[in-house]
Amino acid sequence: MKKPLVVIVVLIGLAVIAVGVMRARSAKATEAIASGALRGANVLLITIDTLRADHVGAYGGARGLTPTIDRLAAEGLRFETTYAHVPLTLPSHASLLTGAYPFVNGVRDNGSFRFDGRHPTLGSTLKAAGYRTGAFVAAFVLDARFGLNAGFDVYDDKYGSRPAGGGLSVLERPADRVLDAAVSWITRDGDSAGGNRPWFAWAHLYDPHEPYDPPAPFHTRYASDPYSGEIAFADAQLGAALDRLARQGYLTRTLVVVAADHGESLGDHQERTHGLFAYQATLRVPLVVWAPPAVKPGVFKGVARLVDVMPTVLDLIGIPASAPSGRSLRPLVGGDLPADDRGSYFEALNANLTRNWAPLAGLVAGGFKLIDLPIPELYDLRADPAEHFNLYGRRQEVAKPIEQQLDSIRSGGKPVAATQVDRDTVQRLRSLGYVVAPAARPARSFTARDDPKTLVALSNRLDEALDALKGGRPAVAERILKELIAARPDFTIAHDRLALLYHETSRIEMAIATLESASRDGVTDAASLATLGGYLQEAGNFERSAEVLQAALKLNPSEMEAYEKLGITYTRMGRYAEAHRMFDHMLSIAPNSATTYNNLGSLYLTERRYADAVQSLTRAVAIDPALARAHNGLGVAYARQGQMDQAIVEWRKAVELRPDLADARYNLEQAKK
Ligand SMILES: [Zn+2]
Repeated sequence: MKKPLVVIVVLIGLAVIAVGVMRARSAKATEAIASGALRGANVLLITIDTLRADHVGAYGGARGLTPTIDRLAAEGLRFETTYAHVPLTLPSHASLLTGAYPFVNGVRDNGSFRFDGRHPTLGSTLKAAGYRTGAFVAAFVLDARFGLNAGFDVYDDKYGSRPAGGGLSVLERPADRVLDAAVSWITRDGDSAGGNRPWFAWAHLYDPHEPYDPPAPFHTRYASDPYSGEIAFADAQLGAALDRLARQGYLTRTLVVVAADHGESLGDHQERTHGLFAYQATLRVPLVVWAPPAVKPGVFKGVARLVDVMPTVLDLIGIPASAPSGRSLRPLVGGDLPADDRGSYFEALNANLTRNWAPLAGLVAGGFKLIDLPIPELYDLRADPAEHFNLYGRRQEVAKPIEQQLDSIRSGGKPVAATQVDRDTVQRLRSLGYVVAPAARPARSFTARDDPKTLVALSNRLDEALDALKGGRPAVAERILKELIAARPDFTIAHDRLALLYHETSRIEMAIATLESASRDGVTDAASLATLGGYLQEAGNFERSAEVLQAALKLNPSEMEAYEKLGITYTRMGRYAEAHRMFDHMLSIAPNSATTYNNLGSLYLTERRYADAVQSLTRAVAIDPALARAHNGLGVAYARQGQMDQAIVEWRKAVELRPDLADARYNLEQAKK
């Protein structure tokens, strides 16, 4: 695989000359590519989270933030207009990897949905074709527990563990660490299964997602615009990684695809970040395909969609595959097919699922965007790309056919709820004193007062409350959250955050009371029941904790946190066999969950199975060396087996990592005596 340096220098020289020639041509049109033109090529998929298209130089960004992407775009094929289908990380990546719309692949929001493997993915298809496959993700939102590990030999989701009770902490790792892991996997020599198989690597860079806090020197260089600083940092890291791969000859026959999962509103339409609305700031994403010389430089002017990425890549590689919602763009790029407009579906359901606001869905078709809400919207994207003039009332002859097209696209879809709540579950929740609506209300039963446009100010107030809480001003946060609950009593997430606030300020009984009363009033979902079950456990009310967590799992079997918490509650109740079942289930779905190995280790310690405890806790610290609690537990396991020297080493590490970890300090002091 590794080529002598001299050859590479010559190749790079040729590539530069070729680019000069082709750039002149690319202004005219895109050139045809044969299906299978890249047969056997490696595939490198880079997704940059929250990268707004107009911040990329190749898309008109003026600040020079993205020299790497701009170079790939100049040497490759740039898709001028590409749409995401959900302005949120997990569902957007799910639609990219499966070629299926969210209502088809079943992943419609972060956190409470899990891809169940019902469709082949880009990874599973390439794996079946003999590729080795590796994914390197930067943040918890794409943890293996949410199912996007389907089809990957290696799914590296090692970004560290959430501190116990650290409800608002963001679990992420920076681009350099993600790319280091990806590059070392790509460049490892051969593999046991048979020499130089082609590879598919997916690297997910989370840096531009809030909180915006780029490392030096980007921190100071972009002090007034840290979002741009994060983009510049991620792009620079991508450039360095590609250089390393190119120097070692790994890019000579590699298809590189760069995309974003969604953009960032930055205040457009009063939206601060993303996820509430589906305006161009968050829905339009960059998409670049680079594979010289097979893919000639050019700009594709038609509409591309993230569901088209999977079938397009497979078509270029020469693997026949159809996608549930997407189609290969290759024939369109070459002009073999007229650029027919199938429309691009989108939805944003988070506010519906977590706040009981009206669900947002829509379609981009024929240069117009229709947004189906209680206050419907229609924009002429060519004349009004900033979407300031709602034409819905005046242009019914345009709106109605798009509405019909939207209805026919959606007709195959399932209802919005995470899972259908069955009679048994409703009964069980009633027996706990909770009220749960048997199913989500249909979109058109909402009114203008439930429209997210009407409620965006409340959304921003919620952000303010969370900022206040993170900034150490809990009294301010508490006042805002109570105000929000008074304004919208069914604002599920506001109840949840108020409970979190009480929890973080050591008022556990108030945290429990807040969620219990919200649940009795019917303002509950599986996520808030899982939170409540955790608080009840901390308060020592194990019976009720187990009941509530079981109810959460009945309500949504994909509420993964509930398995982990239930395992701990069962451990504390002495129900060891059931605890093992919970942790085993977690680890079968999230094999890199260091906290689960830690909890399993604690279970073994409770059972006095010290050798098993050592094994499990060693796994925990191998995955996350910074997990202080696991080092402490490991020390206990060693001590119980009489290995005091090793015990002291582990307790020292625990105290070093977490000087506030009282158990470890105590253990260390006792050992010294
Ligand atoms: Zn994202």
